[in-house]
Amino acid sequence: MPQPPFILFSDLDGTLLDTFTYQPDGAEAALACLREVGVPLVFCSSKTFEEIVFYQKQLGIHAPFIVENGGAVFVPDGYFHFEIGLEKRRAEFWVKEFGAASAFIRQKLAGAAADLELDVRGFSDLSVSQLAALTGLDEAAAGRAARKDYSETLAAPSDPKSLARLERYLVSPGLALTSGSRFFTVHGANADKGRAAEWLMELFRQVHENPLIAAVGDATNDIPLLRQADKAFLVQKTDGSWVDAGGLPVELAPAPGPKGFDWVVRHLLRNV
Ligand SMILES: [Mg+2]
Repeated sequence: MPQPPFILFSDLDGTLLDTFTYQPDGAEAALACLREVGVPLVFCSSKTFEEIVFYQKQLGIHAPFIVENGGAVFVPDGYFHFEIGLEKRRAEFWVKEFGAASAFIRQKLAGAAADLELDVRGFSDLSVSQLAALTGLDEAAAGRAARKDYSETLAAPSDPKSLARLERYLVSPGLALTSGSRFFTVHGANADKGRAAEWLMELFRQVHENPLIAAVGDATNDIPLLRQADKAFLVQKTDGSWVDAGGLPVELAPAPGPKGFDWVVRHLLRNV
């Protein structure tokens, strides 16, 4: 495997993909540059397996990826040219799981709805057309978003007080609540983007000598990912501000979403 100038781990929604169009509007040239210089682009997203495979195909990317906020890592067959010691497979990928199963999460959310008398609804409780209306996705994309294996994204509640009560309730079954660009997601407490990324970065460090690993995101759920990288970047949120990085040294892209991603790629290509 030739040594790439750097490896880029990227969030999708609100980072490479526009928060509302779910397209890499304005990052097309940056994506072409990454392909040209052979930079592995690793998606690390709250999106599902089916969604990420869809975007990989659309954008012509062949690389490992992290689904559902760190629920699992998928490594294409033969990608690392050495045995990575995994047994679970899905399609042409090896799977390393970190997250709790979605069925368990849904069961606990039903318990929370009853015990706390809260309106708790996940994406899987909605019809595909309701989900399409809520997210702005078309129905095929909404279907891909709904088929989760390691998490559940909440359609309700959305008010801070109810979310705080729900978060406390989820502690004892070992679950946690994380804020993404638009929605809150419930997942196994020991699964976050950082743990999954740390495991995958170690594989890259086995094949390359001191690779420069950069990471870019836009939201709270990206901070554990950014913490694992050698160089961390935040793009602007839709309101033009940056999420609080909690004291972590990060470089701030002066643009939101894919335009911010474009800035990060240009910055990296200039400085490595
Ligand atoms: Mg995001």
